[in-house]
Amino acid sequence: MAADLVVMIDGEGPMPGSLRSPSASPSPPSLGENFDPRPFLEFCTAHRGAPRYERVILVGDGQPLEQHGFALAEAARRGGFRRVRLDTRPWRLTNPRQVQAVVQAGVAEISVGLHATDPALHDRLRDRPGDFRDAKKCLANLARLDAEALVYIVMTSANVGQLRPVAQLAIEAGARRIDFWAYAPLDPTESEQQLLVPLDELAPRLLEAIATCRAAEVEAVIHHVPVCVLGEEGARVDATEPDHFHDHSQFWAAADPSARPRFNCLREAQCDAAEVCLGLSHAHVNRFGWELDRLRALPRTRPWRPRDRSVRRVDARGRAQAPHGHARWLDLLGAHAMGVEGVALTRSEARYPLQMPDGTRFVLVISARDDAARTFKQSRSFNLAYTDVVGPATERAIAAFVGPVLDTIIANDDGSLSLDARR
Ligand code: SF4
Repeated sequence: MAADLVVMIDGEGPMPGSLRSPSASPSPPSLGENFDPRPFLEFCTAHRGAPRYERVILVGDGQPLEQHGFALAEAARRGGFRRVRLDTRPWRLTNPRQVQAVVQAGVAEISVGLHATDPALHDRLRDRPGDFRDAKKCLANLARLDAEALVYIVMTSANVGQLRPVAQLAIEAGARRIDFWAYAPLDPTESEQQLLVPLDELAPRLLEAIATCRAAEVEAVIHHVPVCVLGEEGARVDATEPDHFHDHSQFWAAADPSARPRFNCLREAQCDAAEVCLGLSHAHVNRFGWELDRLRALPRTRPWRPRDRSVRRVDARGRAQAPHGHARWLDLLGAHAMGVEGVALTRSEARYPLQMPDGTRFVLVISARDDAARTFKQSRSFNLAYTDVVGPATERAIAAFVGPVLDTIIANDDGSLSLDARR
């Protein structure tokens, strides 16, 4: 489980690492007007007694944020979250009194996108005239209050030459932390593809900007850049994902604006950093290829064990043993867990081998919930499907056999387990 929990209040807020809000995408999701704060308010009450998350990140910029934002921040502060962060667009925080009210409600961190030193370029990247001016005002307001300004920079071909001066500008404006995100569009248009940057251009400029942060003792965090092209600074790469609090049944009617780009690396099996590095985005690979002459797998100090988080109910000789490892993945299946040998768990999938009474074998596969992907059924957090069928059973018979197992998973999925949809 992640340390952070994201609450999407509407589709207008900026997503981490994105230049624009989800509602600016070609197929705007119908979010917002239906937002019901009660599930999160109830969650806060329960969380207070047994805190699971360190930080809550409230994301929004529309009317629902205006209507519910203060109540949600106050509930989160009382609900056992040690940090409350707000991700909104900077025009909302240009008025010092408004910022003060937000901080008084319990928000301790506010993230602000700053993408260029040149206002025209920043506004063009954000597709919003005046955004640079608003971001500067917002940062000035935060500098006067006891709230942390978290600046993020999305690195594109248009601003890659300015990374060091943008970092310097952010530091002078009071940034306590700077997040550098390689541009990784989900489904890029031709003009968005032109904003991608090859690694040999990106890495040296990013390292210069990191050196500026280091000299100013400002924390720098890197996202979506391969660890192996950053030398010692590779330790700054953060590939973790926050959990998302949402109720699919009522809120994500049309599309999931938290949908993330996908990543991969052909050297994963040889690389010691594979568990902490996503590799390259699919958009990057489509534009520049796998960059195999630049990626250098870090020598393995441990054998490659892609399933080393797996849970087995039987030992190597097939003898029954008490489950060890992440046994909660077996608990998802309830009583049906007795019918599987174990679960093979990777970063992106949980696979349960099952056998029917007629000897037909297949693998039940759980992956992160993705409303756009083909699947058999869905639970709160997962897509559920089966594959690798071997044996005489018909499709109908398999569906009848696996149905109760899937229903149990749907009933038991309380959102506390997660898989990474990105790789
Ligand atoms: S070789 Fe691949 S997995 Fe390893 S650090 Fe480089 S990009 Fe990441």
